[in-house]
Amino acid sequence: MRIPLIAANWKMHKTIEEAQRFIEKLRPALKGVREVDIAIAPPFTALIAVAQASSGLPIHLAAQNVHPEAKGAFTGEISPVMLRDIGCHYVIVGHSERRTLFAETDALVNLKVKAAFRHDLIPILCVGESLEQRQAGKTKTVLESQLRADLQGVPPAGASKLVVAYEPIWAIGTGQTATPQDAQAGCAFIRQVVASLFNENVAEALRVQYGGSVKPDNARDLLSQPDVDGALVGGASLDPNDFAQIVRAAIPH
Ligand code: PEP
Repeated sequence: MRIPLIAANWKMHKTIEEAQRFIEKLRPALKGVREVDIAIAPPFTALIAVAQASSGLPIHLAAQNVHPEAKGAFTGEISPVMLRDIGCHYVIVGHSERRTLFAETDALVNLKVKAAFRHDLIPILCVGESLEQRQAGKTKTVLESQLRADLQGVPPAGASKLVVAYEPIWAIGTGQTATPQDAQAGCAFIRQVVASLFNENVAEALRVQYGGSVKPDNARDLLSQPDVDGALVGGASLDPNDFAQIVRAAIPH
């Protein structure tokens, strides 16, 4: 059985003090939560603060980005070795904001995915179509081509630990959530592509999250879909009560 993963992507939000306050408010709200994996991806500057403040809580640390090289002359970048050093377990790779605002290509995303695995980090690989691509009926073509390129050369043993986030770009930060049926269709298709790229065992083990305007009031319907194994949450993850409600919505019944 796949354990759902609820991951918070704070993007460029929260100072150290705000991050500490968030964890203190989250602490009581997580009492009794079981069978759900939780990850928080704060900005790099708050990684240590979140790690320290969440001691004793079932929270995995995640980074929002990584450079493919272990070290070197790459001003402003953070390496996978440094992320492991600070206690990161997951790293978000290929988020649509990085693809569109920072011109990240599938080739670069692929290097980052492989670097993450090499250094014992689990990538949360984001894929998803734009509104234009969806309206042109290209959703499946886009998802397949991203997965094919982003996962090239990844060994099956790594792939079974992978997390893929299906994030339709039109649903991110817009309040325009995908319907549970659309989320299910996207996540099921991703699993099918991964089965064809690797094998059925890898596809069965793979966790596929949905991301795009997940909120406390729509989380349960989205998370109850059979191929939706969690959520990547942006806006609603900034509020500890909202985030805790989304975590609770993922507890298997
Ligand atoms: C995201 O940026 O990954 C995301 C899903 O954002 P939001 O929840 O705000 O749509």
